[in-house]
Amino acid sequence: MHRRLIAPGALAAASLLLAIPASAAEASPGAPGIGDPYYPYYGNGGYDVSHYDLRLTYRPSTDELSGTATISARTTQSLNRFNLDFLLDVSEVRVNGNAARFATSGEHELEITPKSPLAKDTPVTVVVRYSGVPSTKSAYGFTTWHRTPDGAIAADEPEAAWWWFPSNDHPSDKATYDVSVAVPDGTQALSNGTLQSTSSQRGWTRYNWRQNKPQATYLTTLALGRFDVTTATSDGGVPVLNAYSKDLGDNDGAARASVERTGEIVDWLSGYLGPYPFSSAGGYVPNTTTGYALETQTRVYYSPKQFAGGSNTSVVVHELAHQWYGDDVSIAGWKDIWLNEGFARYAQWLWSEHEGEGTAQELADYTYASHPADDPFWTVAPGDPGPDNQFAAAVYDRGALAVQALRNAVGDETFFAILKGWPKSHAYGNASVGDFRAYAEGVAGRSLKALFDTWLYDTVRPAQPAVASARGTAPVRPASWTKIQATNDVHGG
Ligand SMILES: [Zn+2]
Repeated sequence: MHRRLIAPGALAAASLLLAIPASAAEASPGAPGIGDPYYPYYGNGGYDVSHYDLRLTYRPSTDELSGTATISARTTQSLNRFNLDFLLDVSEVRVNGNAARFATSGEHELEITPKSPLAKDTPVTVVVRYSGVPSTKSAYGFTTWHRTPDGAIAADEPEAAWWWFPSNDHPSDKATYDVSVAVPDGTQALSNGTLQSTSSQRGWTRYNWRQNKPQATYLTTLALGRFDVTTATSDGGVPVLNAYSKDLGDNDGAARASVERTGEIVDWLSGYLGPYPFSSAGGYVPNTTTGYALETQTRVYYSPKQFAGGSNTSVVVHELAHQWYGDDVSIAGWKDIWLNEGFARYAQWLWSEHEGEGTAQELADYTYASHPADDPFWTVAPGDPGPDNQFAAAVYDRGALAVQALRNAVGDETFFAILKGWPKSHAYGNASVGDFRAYAEGVAGRSLKALFDTWLYDTVRPAQPAVASARGTAPVRPASWTKIQATNDVHGG
């Protein structure tokens, strides 16, 4: 994932100084941020998006992207102005069919002033016509648009959308998508969900993708390049579509040996997490120089570096576990990241046990023993790590320790009921760490406050868990440790 510092503050005051026009006494501007304390300008206030329709054209040789976004939303307040998050060059905006005024502000704000104010709780259609070269755009001094020798990809966290479509860029506003991209013949355009159709004319091929379940903006991906595509159906009936850059070099074999296990792993995870929540599964491995993997919904992004050391099914397990913990049930705010990473890491521990390379308890014991009491590792609270530590190792490893502590506290039967019941209880929605605690307490039939405080919020090393201390000997490093830690490093980079 992306890791950098954002120094918010000055811009907020500037935006708030803009006066509300007297002519629209009841209508007011939507906030420039959705209200996430980690990222004050991510997302926007005043409306909720239900669908993005993106019709685009891309030229790999020049990295030019152009097209139209049609956004279906509903107002949550009376609006005389509202924002989208976007970096490319806008030539026209229409709101409910009428031309609208627009301007840019801040690092990534597109301010839209409709011809007349929008009433609260009414449907609104926004059309944005745009073009640009994404690789030339930056916000806060960085870009997450990744050029490859044969095209580009959009896959990053917590921000990726700004470089290719205007959005309400926060996981709390999920929507369905139709992504249609025309590329020169021989190049492919990959996105989330199912490939509905392709058409070719005059040297261009258009790919039409549909995501029919709610999807967070950061989980929306675009891959443009030359790929070898494989398709299959898992024993459990899940259609699988994977794609590999034609230029993966020495990593090609290991990438395929890992990602081609997708259907098997989806079915195996379903045993713990419930039925797979989406109409398609799969992953893609473009020829990027980045190091991380990302759980982009239904179509996981893997850096080829994931497979530089040989096959790694553990990272496939991690990203596919996110399809339930992160994609189906998405975080309410970025502070809730433990709900994603603690459980995706724990799924790797379960896979290790399945593969006979160390049980979850053995991994927990070794993880605990690996971090002495004065290790800064314990100063990161996975339940609210702060933006600078959002993807710190502790969110993953201490996060999974918290899951193991929960398992030991409530017993296997209750624990696995919680693990499987949670995605169903908040299917296609959003939830916070507090919501998870309430759900777990409901299943367990008792308060878990002390356990959550100790493992998710205290900034000191918890006392050694009883299960581990009973063993009395130093834990041995499980065989799966290196592969799991390799995915850990990758997430942090
Ligand atoms: Zn993850």
